Amino acid sequence: MKFSQKIYETEVLILGSGASGCGAAIAARKEGADVLIIDKGVLESSGNLGGGNDHFMAVLDEAEHDSFEDMCRYYVTPTSGLSRTIAQNFFNAMRPCLKVLEDAGIELLHNPDGTYVRSVGFGQPGPWWIHINKGYTVKPKLAKYIKNLGIRVVNNFFVTTLLKDGDRIAGCAGFDVLTGDFIVVKCKTAVIAMGLTAQRVSNNSSHKPFNIWYSPYITGSQVILPLEAGASVLNIDITDKATLLPKSWGAPGMNGINNMGGHELNAKGERFMGKYDPMMENGLRRNQVMGTFQENLEGSGPPFFMDMRHFAPEDARHLQYDLMPGDKETYLDYCKARNIDFTKTPLEVEISERMIGGVVRCSDEQETEIKNLFAASLLATFSCCMCIGWSAGQFAARRAKTAEMPGLPESDFEKIKAGIYAPLKETKSKHAVSYQEFEDGIRQVMDYYAGFQRTEGSMAQALKSFRVLEEYLPRLEAASLRELMRTHESMELFKLVRIYVQACMQRKESGRAMYRRADYPERDPKYDKCLITRLNADGTPEFSWTE
Ligand SMILES: Cc1cc2nc3c(=O)[nH]c(=O)nc-3n(C[C@H](O)[C@H](O)[C@H](O)COP(=O)(O)OP(=O)(O)OC[C@H]3O[C@@H](n4cnc5c(N)ncnc54)[C@H](O)[C@@H]3O)c2cc1C
Repeated sequence: MKFSQKIYETEVLILGSGASGCGAAIAARKEGADVLIIDKGVLESSGNLGGGNDHFMAVLDEAEHDSFEDMCRYYVTPTSGLSRTIAQNFFNAMRPCLKVLEDAGIELLHNPDGTYVRSVGFGQPGPWWIHINKGYTVKPKLAKYIKNLGIRVVNNFFVTTLLKDGDRIAGCAGFDVLTGDFIVVKCKTAVIAMGLTAQRVSNNSSHKPFNIWYSPYITGSQVILPLEAGASVLNIDITDKATLLPKSWGAPGMNGINNMGGHELNAKGERFMGKYDPMMENGLRRNQVMGTFQENLEGSGPPFFMDMRHFAPEDARHLQYDLMPGDKETYLDYCKARNIDFTKTPLEVEISERMIGGVVRCSDEQETEIKNLFAASLLATFSCCMCIGWSAGQFAARRAKTAEMPGLPESDFEKIKAGIYAPLKETKSKHAVSYQEFEDGIRQVMDYYAGFQRTEGSMAQALKSFRVLEEYLPRLEAASLRELMRTHESMELFKLVRIYVQACMQRKESGRAMYRRADYPERDPKYDKCLITRLNADGTPEFSWTE
């Protein structure tokens, strides 16, 4: 197969068109820069925002516990990797981002007095969560807004490599997942906005890796590409996420259910979350997941339920019919199939699959250790991503005003292309291994040896099992461009899980992540810090700690 080559040039390159990338692109454009935003998906639906979001978090100085100081107390902790200045960047971007959302025609709900309808969530002290109506319209409306600003968009572009010129970013390379063309972008500055956590590393009870809570297409580039380009990444050991799902169905929505007052019940009908978090179900999500896991271990479940039968009828209606379909358009189909009416029927839930990731280390101006490359996806949630993306876009655009256009490492292109197309075979060989078989292996190892409960020994065994899986890498073959994309995603996931397990072995305690180390069951104040990961010259990870 023969593919052509395309080269783009821009002042500011935005890598990823999810919530962070959209915030970054809009802010950079408003600073006057020429902006190109790329994604392996399509702007109108890419990233987790593409699935629909029903809440936007904003600290507005309008209520109790609604100030920047409240926000810092929640977000700026020794293990968050977030400085007070970055929190300030985030806070400063909230009002401009809200204005963009309203200008784009996104329906943020208002009270009769004009203030936003907001509620408390995730153990936060104030009512920071603005309710959104028809959350599934957010991404297409934002996409239209972006295109109207004159931002150039390249969809279906899978980035496999960040390109450098000396110590600075020069652009990126990869391939078009529909045509197979080799694509290169040259830029003065760039923002990495490829998400926070990767999916498909573990299973929920459906054992279908695409039937999950978050977008299944974020597979670790946010960690692997910066590491391979020489940057360091924080908190690979504790940037993990899980939630509760409607039984066997990968839908989000727990923030709405918890923050409106849903009660979680175990199999004995007991509301147990008081044992695990002072704010019960509306506390830290980690406590809800690990609390449910503990009940499970102790034999008090499954099944588990979220009970909304005590809600006022209008609240139950708003939750089931406005908010939930905003997170997943087919929510009501699920409810219909299972005969669920929040006013009458508790919703059976299960602990979800897990996601893992990391935070690219950056300065207060959000510049990574690669010069002119700025970081956007430093936290999860719509507003954290859009707002921190916003400030990254501003910093990138301001730098681009004085930066020269770099040179491209053209002598590397043949090697990059060879790596991209290696798995593509017109006829698969007898010994071919598919990405599905390979990825199933990753998930089996992760769930069995590095699951919600693990030990040093189980993680050591996970690494041994990964060495067996490694033997299959040269046999991965793809018969189409679609399979080629999936194969590259699987290879990326494999790199990520191996680094992840080694990272988790460094933190000999429990209580800060969505897993419990049975050999170190308590939290240890010695680990009140972030783990730093870098790759050494032969590609093996090296670990150190922040002070
Ligand atoms: C259905 C759903 C509902 C949610 N509801 C809410 C809510 O109500 N409120 C809230 O605050 N949060 C919610 N969240 C979480 C929130 O949507 C996310 O935290 C946020 O959108 C993440 O944005 P991001 O841009 O950092 O990352 P992502 O959304 O992960 O975007 C990363 C982008 O990078 C692209 N990408 C990755 N790797 C590559 C590569 N190698 N080459 C090219 N492109 C690449 C991906 O395709 C993707 O588009 C929800 C999540 C989901 C899935």
